[in-house]
Amino acid sequence: VAEARRLAAEVLEPAAQEVDRAPAVPAGHLRTLAGAGLLGLAGPPSHGGHGAPAAVVREVFEALAGACGATFFVWVQHHAPVRLLAGSPNTGLRDRLLPGLCAGRDLGGVAFAHLRRPGAPALQARAVPGGLRVDGEAPWVTSWGLADVVAVAARAGAGGDQVVFFALPARATAHVRPSPPLRLAAMSATCTVRLAFDDLRVSEADVISESSLADWQARDRVATAQPNAAVFGLAATAARLLAERDAGAAAALEEERADLRAQSYGLADEGREDDAHLARLVGLRARSLDLAVRAATALVAATGGRAMDLSHPAQRLLREAAFYTIQAQTRPLREATLARLVSRGS
Ligand SMILES: Cc1cc2nc3c(=O)[nH]c(=O)nc-3n(C[C@H](O)[C@H](O)[C@H](O)COP(=O)(O)OP(=O)(O)OC[C@H]3O[C@@H](n4cnc5c(N)ncnc54)[C@H](O)[C@@H]3O)c2cc1C
Repeated sequence: VAEARRLAAEVLEPAAQEVDRAPAVPAGHLRTLAGAGLLGLAGPPSHGGHGAPAAVVREVFEALAGACGATFFVWVQHHAPVRLLAGSPNTGLRDRLLPGLCAGRDLGGVAFAHLRRPGAPALQARAVPGGLRVDGEAPWVTSWGLADVVAVAARAGAGGDQVVFFALPARATAHVRPSPPLRLAAMSATCTVRLAFDDLRVSEADVISESSLADWQARDRVATAQPNAAVFGLAATAARLLAERDAGAAAALEEERADLRAQSYGLADEGREDDAHLARLVGLRARSLDLAVRAATALVAATGGRAMDLSHPAQRLLREAAFYTIQAQTRPLREATLARLVSRGS
């Protein structure tokens, strides 16, 4: 945590406005994070990871996300394939990929958010001799051009009622075609693309996991209810910068942040998965998104015209807060976010 905070303050935050406008997060940033062991933060010790507990992972999220959103997001996506591989029954694949990912020699990415969209599968996997054939389009894949391997999710089975995750070498081929990097209001330097799959053959040796869609949805419902520590990191930075202009306003936001953070982490640590508990967590997540947007907006207001300059952190933090408002969004979170925003008018 101390090393993450030091790198956040000395390396990431001073360059954040420049990185925000760059085509890609600097390779040097990623090497520095890897050198500090942060790419193996939550990886299994059996494969070179640090197996950090949730409280440590949260503190690191807060430090990195509060310093540079784009670098944080590239870094955080890496942990999805690490987590998926750590739980994979495919020991051969685990032993092949995890040591490099945990050591930070290799960077990972993930493409799975499309599983949350209702309707026809965005990516369809069909069984063929020796493995799978995959067709369709993944709408969001971060770190393209930076990552070495991407964990991709596709729907399989009759009616798409199964989910399969597989490891994909992150390079364009005749069967895997990236769009140009998406031009986005925030997080442009994350090298996020759409990825089209056309008759891609995936060997069984590269399959990470298989489950029913219903089981995946049940796990995702729990996962997406959890607090996003990145949002608390962003709000802390906004309050810290605001303190230079209006100590009273900053203290009020910081008090709200500390209270919401304690409530969110405390409730999450109860580890319950019942409906009432998840609904309370989603409500807290919606409140934290609202807080991040307000904290960044307060910084804009207190800064004045200069806040609109692309070299100023206020506008970047506000755009990043907007990004977190839709990132890993689910139907309950969307509804809770809108309810929260609308209730403020009354
Ligand atoms: C810069 C950037 C980088 C990203 N990188 C990645 C990545 O690397 N990997 C990855 O997997 N994802 C990535 N995402 C996706 C991201 O995590 C979110 O899942 C996504 O932005 C949500 O929008 P969507 O277009 O996917 O889904 P949407 O279609 O907008 O749906 C979002 C959620 O709302 C629900 N919903 C849709 N319509 C309604 C409605 N009318 N009423 C109620 N609920 C509704 C959906 O069921 C879904 O759960 C990235 C997104 C951005 C912006």
